[in-house]
Amino acid sequence: MDKTILVVNCGSSTLKLALFDENTLTCTATGLAERLNHDDAVARIGKIEGDIPLPAGATHRQALEAMTKALADSGLLTGPPAAIGHRVVHGGENFREAALIDDEVLRAIRECADLAPLHNPVNLSGIDSTMSLFPEVPNIAVFDTAYHQTLPRKAYLYAVPYSYYEDWGVRRYGFHGISHSYMLTEAARRLGKTPANTSIISAHLGNGCSIAAIRDGLSADTSMGLTPLEGLVMGSRSGDIDPGLFDYLKSRGVAQDQLHHVLNHESGLLGLSGQTNDMRTLCDLAEHGHEPSLIAIEVFCFRLARYIGAMMASLHHLDALVFTGGIGEHSARVREQTLENLQLLGFDIDGQLNRYNGQYSDGHIGSPDSQFPILVIPTNEELVIAREAARLATAPNGPVTPG
Ligand code: ADP
Repeated sequence: MDKTILVVNCGSSTLKLALFDENTLTCTATGLAERLNHDDAVARIGKIEGDIPLPAGATHRQALEAMTKALADSGLLTGPPAAIGHRVVHGGENFREAALIDDEVLRAIRECADLAPLHNPVNLSGIDSTMSLFPEVPNIAVFDTAYHQTLPRKAYLYAVPYSYYEDWGVRRYGFHGISHSYMLTEAARRLGKTPANTSIISAHLGNGCSIAAIRDGLSADTSMGLTPLEGLVMGSRSGDIDPGLFDYLKSRGVAQDQLHHVLNHESGLLGLSGQTNDMRTLCDLAEHGHEPSLIAIEVFCFRLARYIGAMMASLHHLDALVFTGGIGEHSARVREQTLENLQLLGFDIDGQLNRYNGQYSDGHIGSPDSQFPILVIPTNEELVIAREAARLATAPNGPVTPG
């Protein structure tokens, strides 16, 4: 009987599942539960027709139970998985790589919950659920922050009193590390290089957006910081703002918790356009000259261009600029409009290759005149998590704990 690796990715109201063959690491099934903890919670599995029945207000645990049962009933899961990999958003400074979950690891993840209150508790509930559903199976935590633990201190320190870092861990951690590390290995493969000798700028543009400078295989700078709010313009997150905004808006009667909500949920593309956080919709509206959409796209692309320039400060050479995430993979307009701001740096897009998202050119969208290769690479965070889970579940030296 073939063994499987189960990958679990719990978001605030979503749960994504993926099943991989342990030996070949090919994906055999994917599933998605949405609107969890709401009356209209719903779950689907790609290869199974119709919705998976969920109770109203289903929790992550209930969704996980229902989905794994549906996988078993349909013969896609033929016994307990060989290992279960979990995406965990914040590992703080405790984790430089993925870890086999034991009590100590659980405690360390819990300790980081202050830094990621929207994410780590829900990640923990996913871990807790699979531990009770499959008590004999090893669980592995794969952290979004871990890949960025190689940032040099000049990149991770904020210029605030140093004691804030020493006493409270105030520093830039960076996120999307699972995706950025996948961009490194995929870009290196396509360029015929080894990851350790490859330097790229990786732009992950989804609902959340971040960029990373990867120097000789290691993360050297990134745009997200203490939390996933810093940096680029995102779907509904502001990215960088002047911290003076807090005092200024206080004087206008906006309370701090209200501003926190606005910056996380009512800003970014949504705030600028007043319409939607969805880039595809904004691009459609912009085609018809819709001014608020044009403004939102313009600010998004300009901020991204500024950050691409900023990432250059961490590199001694550049093998490729890489775009990924829903926007990075699919929006020719965003890529083109961004790089129009960077002609001085020598990036030049081929219009035709760009229109096809690099589909027929192994991802390449740069023109022959471009000083650097420009690539579009679909991300595959589930595969990275499955690989890490398979690796650690069979690690010869036993559990890998924080360090
Ligand atoms: P998440 O971060 O939730 O995984 P995705 O990586 O799927 O999100 O990215 C979602 C974003 O990608 C949305 O803003 C969506 O509109 C955008 N997107 C997807 N397809 C296109 C497209 N063809 N053109 C422009 N934007 C697109």
